[in-house]
Amino acid sequence: MLSKNIEKAFSDQINNEFFSAYLYLSMANYFESIDLKGFAHWMKIQSKEELSHGMKIFDYVMDRNGSVALLSIKNPKYRWTSATDAFQNAYEHEKEVTKSIHILYALTQKEKDLAASVFLNWFIEEQAEEEAASLVIVKKLKLIKNDLASLYLLDKELSERK
Ligand code: MG
Repeated sequence: MLSKNIEKAFSDQINNEFFSAYLYLSMANYFESIDLKGFAHWMKIQSKEELSHGMKIFDYVMDRNGSVALLSIKNPKYRWTSATDAFQNAYEHEKEVTKSIHILYALTQKEKDLAASVFLNWFIEEQAEEEAASLVIVKKLKLIKNDLASLYLLDKELSERK
């Protein structure tokens, strides 16, 4: 059985993950609007990944015989000034998600729910990967600056994400 505090914190984290899905879907829409279809594709896959994170937590709460209280999902931003601006936003967002996972982990430690701590290990590792994945693209975009040929090459690279 999960404690009420942990149950509430997991519900909040489901909301964070689903908001992430919304944000990345909104970024996919932005990239479509500026004809960077490879970037849009990358963001759509990212959005689906976030939904799967939310579901993973949902299933875990169910497995522990808990209950979730689903919250409304806030409106994501929908305009950015450039591809770099959007990916910088994605990177900053992932850093915030990492913080929220770490706070959740600390709560499970405080309440001595070792199973929940172990469950969160996967998310801790995943967050390191998520930050790295968005940061590497931010760095490439900063190198590219206004070079359209390189931007289209990167768009092609991102279109290949599985
Ligand atoms: Mg996530």
